[in-house]
Amino acid sequence: MALIVQKYGGSSVADAESIKRVAKRIVDARRAGHDVVVAVSAMGDTTDELLDLAHDVAPIPAPRELDMLLSSGERISMALLAMAIHSMGFEARSFTGSQAGMITDGTHGAARIVDVTPVRLREALDEGAIVIVAGFQGFNRDTRDITTLGRGGSDTTAVALAAALQADVCEIYSDVDGIFTADPRVVPKARKLEVVSAEEMLELAANGAKVLYIRAVEYARRHGVMINARSTFSSGQGTFVLGEGMTVPAAIAAVAEESAMEEPIVAGVATDLGQAKVTVIGVPDVPGKAAEIFSVVAKSGANVDMIVQNVSAAATGRTDISFTLPKSDAAVALRALAGEQGSVGFESLVHDDQIGKLSVVGAGMRTHSGVSATLFEALSTAGVNIEMISTSEIRISVVVRGDDLAEAARLVHTAFGLDGDVEAVVHAGTGR
Ligand code: ASP
Ligand code: MG
Repeated sequence: MALIVQKYGGSSVADAESIKRVAKRIVDARRAGHDVVVAVSAMGDTTDELLDLAHDVAPIPAPRELDMLLSSGERISMALLAMAIHSMGFEARSFTGSQAGMITDGTHGAARIVDVTPVRLREALDEGAIVIVAGFQGFNRDTRDITTLGRGGSDTTAVALAAALQADVCEIYSDVDGIFTADPRVVPKARKLEVVSAEEMLELAANGAKVLYIRAVEYARRHGVMINARSTFSSGQGTFVLGEGMTVPAAIAAVAEESAMEEPIVAGVATDLGQAKVTVIGVPDVPGKAAEIFSVVAKSGANVDMIVQNVSAAATGRTDISFTLPKSDAAVALRALAGEQGSVGFESLVHDDQIGKLSVVGAGMRTHSGVSATLFEALSTAGVNIEMISTSEIRISVVVRGDDLAEAARLVHTAFGLDGDVEAVVHAGTGR
């Protein structure tokens, strides 16, 4: 008998039929003797529809009211799910984020969890009920207002509940079978991983893999929660994300051992078409200019990823600095930089949103040499030009033309011996 936290994404509870299917899955876990706590997302595209509606009535919706509105999506699915479970003869109780003790800071739309006090959840569990919690939302003690955690926040809700309740596992259900060695829509020969380390998962999520949200993985790693990413639409075991000191669960020990024998140096190839590149041309090559540029960018709220500074031309004493950032941050960053052109003293700005980022991630890089050579070789065979390079201890990323990204990913995947024998079966496939 275990305590299991399950999270169901929007695509898993898109309509009444799906809700009943999920209810059955939850009841099965209960029947097997487990205590079950469920975090649920809003049905289908509800959150997007509510956002559209908000923008139809107000160009810039008030953040407090937007959170009131968006948090209602999860309240609908939690209540319907509890009803569906009741009708199967089981006791279920739904709770909003604030009832569940999800305490956050006061940042509307991107609140951070600061404490979880699941008193009512414990009571309900002690009384034998299945607990359903509205994902994506919390409560701030100072303002006494409802907050939301940011898009995809239900993953974080689930992990935070698992940590607070010391659950045995946090199962995150979506419409894909688990974590793959690459996005199967880009690389058809991608293989599902049985296990992946939390540090590898963090790098994959930060560099384009969409099945798990990075904040949830971070939270899990920090609090020692074991995540199991799996599909609502199949009975497969999914992928276990193991933090430090965690052992492979018995259910998959045999398969995991077999795949570990292959000793892959690289766990996966992540691709990201969501970034843009900004080049600041003709920056005076004197101390302090990079600091000026990036404090302007930081103040605009943009989140910078890679940075490259060119060698300065001796004749002009000027250099170019390029950086990447999410496409959605590019406009504000450019506007902020343009406003400071005079004081920083650069010549011009170039914006390029046709780039793609490819990253290879693997803890094996720490102990194996030649990973970058293999990567660059594969790209060169494909005739793909590398525009930027950045590395971490367990990752190498390159920026290439967006049009080249898919082919580059397939070749790199093959070069690192990651190809599976069969084409990956992808169910609906949004990963949510
Ligand atoms: N419903 C929210 C969203 O679509 C939260 C979630 O799905 O995790 O972003
Ligand atoms: Mg959603």
